[in-house]
Amino acid sequence: MGINIALDGPSGAGKSTIAKLAAKRLGFVYVDTGAMYRSIAYNAMSRGIDTADEQAVTGSLQGLKIELAYREGTQAVLVNGEDVSDKIRTPEVSMGASAVAKLSAVREFLLETQRNIAAGNDIIMDGRDIGTVVLPNAQVKLFLTASAEERANRRFKELQEKGDPSTYEEVLADIEQRDYNDTHRDIAPLKQAEDAAVIDSTSMTIDQVVDEIVRAAEAAKKPSDEKKKKRSEREMMPVRPVTKTHRLNPVRQFFYNLLRVIVTFIMKHKYDLTYEGLENVPTDGGNVFASNHRSYADPVLIALGARVPISYMAKDELFHKNIFFTWLIKTFGAFPVVRGAGDTSVIDTSIDKLESGRNLVIFPEGTRSKDGKVARGKTGVALIAAVAQTKVVPVGINFEGEKLTKGSKVVVRYGKPIDPAEIGVTSATTGDVKRIKKEIMDSITGLVY
Ligand code: C5P
Repeated sequence: MGINIALDGPSGAGKSTIAKLAAKRLGFVYVDTGAMYRSIAYNAMSRGIDTADEQAVTGSLQGLKIELAYREGTQAVLVNGEDVSDKIRTPEVSMGASAVAKLSAVREFLLETQRNIAAGNDIIMDGRDIGTVVLPNAQVKLFLTASAEERANRRFKELQEKGDPSTYEEVLADIEQRDYNDTHRDIAPLKQAEDAAVIDSTSMTIDQVVDEIVRAAEAAKKPSDEKKKKRSEREMMPVRPVTKTHRLNPVRQFFYNLLRVIVTFIMKHKYDLTYEGLENVPTDGGNVFASNHRSYADPVLIALGARVPISYMAKDELFHKNIFFTWLIKTFGAFPVVRGAGDTSVIDTSIDKLESGRNLVIFPEGTRSKDGKVARGKTGVALIAAVAQTKVVPVGINFEGEKLTKGSKVVVRYGKPIDPAEIGVTSATTGDVKRIKKEIMDSITGLVY
């Protein structure tokens, strides 16, 4: 897995100079997202488009190709094949970039490219919204800042060296205006990520700042003591097969069956709902259902195809909202998981639920996917299956678009249960857990259109 460093901060804080040097020392790729916004502005301006004209700028994105090429260690910016590396550095293009950066079409246009560049690579990416929007899971997040006067001073010197006639006052006004634009726009404003470390470079040398970044990256490369401890706890976790002597209360089962009929009726009325692979659903309890995650209705959609009540994990915060809500989600099988409480406690609680006869629904991706693509799976589900030695039923939830709406065509597909013992998974060691995780994620992906 690559190390991603997100470096955000206001204009002129020295992000690109610092990022280039840090990337060189670390052997990482430097990705200048500001250059991408500048390229869009440059392209629009050279075609006579006003950068404040949303419709025209949006139209200019059609067929536009922006590339960051690396030539002899330096980054060149290409717009439709033309090298614009120097042309995008003028004060006019700076202001144009700040204007086009407000537009949602522009930000969406660049988001996927930026994420694709970062995926799996060692990179340092600088910008305004990298730690907050583009790479919220970056291992290192830094917010580099300096006073507006100091930033103006640095940029003024830079421009003078290039023979640019701008005065210090003009440069300062420009910086203040861009700060205002960047922090006040509605989408992805310049903001320090909550988990970012702030570096105020006003009275630091470039080398000092670079040192700090290199240190942070090296620390991220080494697994922390906490991670090592978790890993060894996991390696030592004994297999604890769930006994299939379920203790599910018959009264509860009766009410569950009743509720299932009512909810199925409501859901079928609301959506165009189809179930496939129902023959794969075990009739006993104590099984794990691992599904892709598309909507808040997923636990219900999955549960309706199973005869035995389900349990699912929910964030602990949800249990402290109000008494009614807590009662409701508990009744429908949610149990709290305290983040950061460690793998073992979550696994123990999950196994207790399986032993009580319930099925356990887990969304291995962790968060909902808006576009329907199956993201990378987390280890939890594989670990539970390996320790509990219980079957995992893969589930694919399919519907068009981002959200479920009335009348949506929904297809819930259950795949063939994966039995850990059958695929040779007999322990919770890293190798076994990885093997079953791959099997689970491949099966889910195969059930998603
Ligand atoms: O960093 P640089 O000054 O080259 O960025 C040019 C402009 O692009 C900035 O003023 C800012 O408005 C915009 N930008 C942005 N989000 C980023 C990078 C740059 O909005 N991630």
